Amino acid sequence: MKEERGKLNERRSNLDEGRDDLNEQQAPYYLPELPYAVNGLEPYIDKETISVHHFVLHKKYVYNLNEVMAKYPAYQYYSLVELIKNVNNLPAEIRTPVFRNAGGVLNHNYYFDMMNPAPNALPSGNLSKAIEKKFGSFDNFKKDFTAAAMAVFGSGWTWLVTDLQGSLYIINTENQVTPYSYDRIPIIPIDIWEHAYFLQYQAARNDYIEAWFHVADWTKAEVMYNTRSIE
Ligand code: MN
Repeated sequence: MKEERGKLNERRSNLDEGRDDLNEQQAPYYLPELPYAVNGLEPYIDKETISVHHFVLHKKYVYNLNEVMAKYPAYQYYSLVELIKNVNNLPAEIRTPVFRNAGGVLNHNYYFDMMNPAPNALPSGNLSKAIEKKFGSFDNFKKDFTAAAMAVFGSGWTWLVTDLQGSLYIINTENQVTPYSYDRIPIIPIDIWEHAYFLQYQAARNDYIEAWFHVADWTKAEVMYNTRSIE
């Protein structure tokens, strides 16, 4: 169960699996494979959007992070979360680019991994119980989550997050800030940067959010909830 969250936070590329054609051979951070075909989320999120978002923009964060870290091998064993949480212990000249790019990689790792062409429409198990306890019902949660996502000003993310005790929260993070900066543990995010939806939905953010609920992977969200740790 821990493997799923660990996979999203890995540092070492696995060159033996041939899944990394980024930067130098030593590149420690990598672009995870999509768990579906590039057109697999249609009609909700189209092929063109996934293609540019994952294979260009997500990949660029990985590339930039590897570029920054190439000259600092002492820190290359840090996972993405370790980089983010310990950013103030890094050399001053790389703090900002590491924080931005490690956050960009981590946030997109969660986003792309936690969509599914044919997901269960509703959470189950412990996550379902926690949602009912906090929000009263899944429908109420959906309303609150949608309102939070509609309220994002500029570029950012909306998240369902938890703490170690299992209480749930909906939070927005700016730019590529992650929930770990607020001592919250990610369960599932929606990317609200315009690049996540503008090609397909133009300014209709509400339609994008509604569409995302058709592909949000609540089975994986349940795993994230059950394996919460601050890392
Ligand atoms: Mn994005």
